Amino acid sequence: MYLFGKTALTHAGEQLAELFFPVACALCGKRIGSALCEECAESVPVIISRENGIVSGFAYQDEKIRAVIHKLKFGGYQPLGVRLGELLADILTEHLFEEDGLVAHETIAVLPIPLSRKRHRTRGFNQSEKIAQGLIKRSPESYTVFKDVLYKVKDT
Ligand SMILES: [Zn+2]
Repeated sequence: MYLFGKTALTHAGEQLAELFFPVACALCGKRIGSALCEECAESVPVIISRENGIVSGFAYQDEKIRAVIHKLKFGGYQPLGVRLGELLADILTEHLFEEDGLVAHETIAVLPIPLSRKRHRTRGFNQSEKIAQGLIKRSPESYTVFKDVLYKVKDT
């Protein structure tokens, strides 16, 4: 007899669901096997901010990107996190590697922001880790993900 944890069962259920109901775009709902279709991805504004040495790729105040983030965090739509990571990899490749002249063999360290244990238990996944998975999936030569480097010391 095998016992599966809730996460394993959830993952198996998701794979089964994707077999019968291909992944739908989080914004337009088209079932085309992508969590954010090309058309919608292109409609999400990109803002490259370099304030205080921190680079962000999306315009987080924009209502479309807010809707996407909400579906990822509170809708539990995990494929969306990986898709956002892929898009972020494309944005960073264009702006960091091509415009800022970083050479392709320089590896960027990615530190997913941890969740509190309680939040991780209720959400079932860490959205930062999903986005990091997308970065690695798209550009494995450019990024190295370091989990367990940052620790949550205060439950926020
Ligand atoms: Zn779409």
